[in-house]
Amino acid sequence: MPDTFKAMLIERREDKTQSVREVEMTEADLMEGDVTVAVEATTVNYKDGLALTGKSPVVRRFPMIPGIDFSGTVLNSTHADWKRGDKVILNGWGVGETHYGAYAGRARVKGDWLVPLPKGTSPRQAMAVGTAGYTAMLCVMALERHGLTPSCGPVVVTGAAGGVGSVAIAILAKLGWHVIASTGRASEADYLKGLGAAEIVDRAELSAPGKPLGKERWAAGVDSVGSHTLANVLAQTSYGGAVAACGLAQGMDLPASVAPFILRGVSLLGVDSVNAPKALRLEAWKRIASDLDRSKLDAITTTMPFAALTNAAHDIVAGKVRGRLVIEM
Ligand code: NDP
Repeated sequence: MPDTFKAMLIERREDKTQSVREVEMTEADLMEGDVTVAVEATTVNYKDGLALTGKSPVVRRFPMIPGIDFSGTVLNSTHADWKRGDKVILNGWGVGETHYGAYAGRARVKGDWLVPLPKGTSPRQAMAVGTAGYTAMLCVMALERHGLTPSCGPVVVTGAAGGVGSVAIAILAKLGWHVIASTGRASEADYLKGLGAAEIVDRAELSAPGKPLGKERWAAGVDSVGSHTLANVLAQTSYGGAVAACGLAQGMDLPASVAPFILRGVSLLGVDSVNAPKALRLEAWKRIASDLDRSKLDAITTTMPFAALTNAAHDIVAGKVRGRLVIEM
């Protein structure tokens, strides 16, 4: 293996604007950690788009190699759980934010942050799922922990054609849910139905300021959009239902009332993937292996070279990316 590898580096200028460039690095340039991994595949999540474009302060240490998730093979390890040759996945833990991340040929991280690549899954497939898909699974598990099942009624998925949305639809449909997909892209209706959506709604129905309570339309929700959309999803959730909220594609605000909570017993379930405990991660990746059809995963995935990263970052922030992007290293 060559001594040097390619990496994407974000630096901060004196005027606090940022620059992004491709550099050559050696392992000596990496940050501390007890496991070094040859990165074989990574991806572009919405958060990576924010980091690379500098649109939101995702990066909290400069310079930084961005990229919040990767899959690859352990090159060397002093951590008891990992040895050379092990196949691993990393999601979150501040990687790509405060610790050098995935957009490099190699990554050095804490062994405690890694989970094993499930048997029969390739690094490319794991990154087709990526943090967006693993978060979609965490959302489904949160709804299940709340006691919700397909017999309770439909589930709405917002940001449907995005990464979290696409994977959530595929999983929920396979589990037997009647999935209502909310999208701003009517042109993706066939794509969403192919993933298992039973109904498509125009996201404009949910994205404007709405009433504190509306007609009860669904028993459950997976929301990656936030803001008015989440407020309206809550207002239209049926008695005793719940919404798993993980994202902010429309906005970080939540202009809602307490009416759904106090008059319909609706619950809002927060989902975080970055610091999720290891047991939850292991369960999520196990469930992904059993509850996400590989053919559906292939249908939502576009594979790109490392050189396409910057353009992909701009596209995902502009809401132009469909499904999931994989970067092969
Ligand atoms: P994507 O960009 O792939 O998907 C987001 C989707 O949201 C878009 O495809 C679009 O769907 C919809 N959307 C975009 N802009 C707007 C808008 N202004 N109003 C309403 N809908 C909009 O991103 P990801 O799926 O990777 O991530 C989705 C969100 O989840 C992000 O906010 C991300 O930060 C968050 N996230 C959070 C995690 C956590 O740990 N809590 C982990 C992973 C992601 P359509 O075109 O179908 O309408």
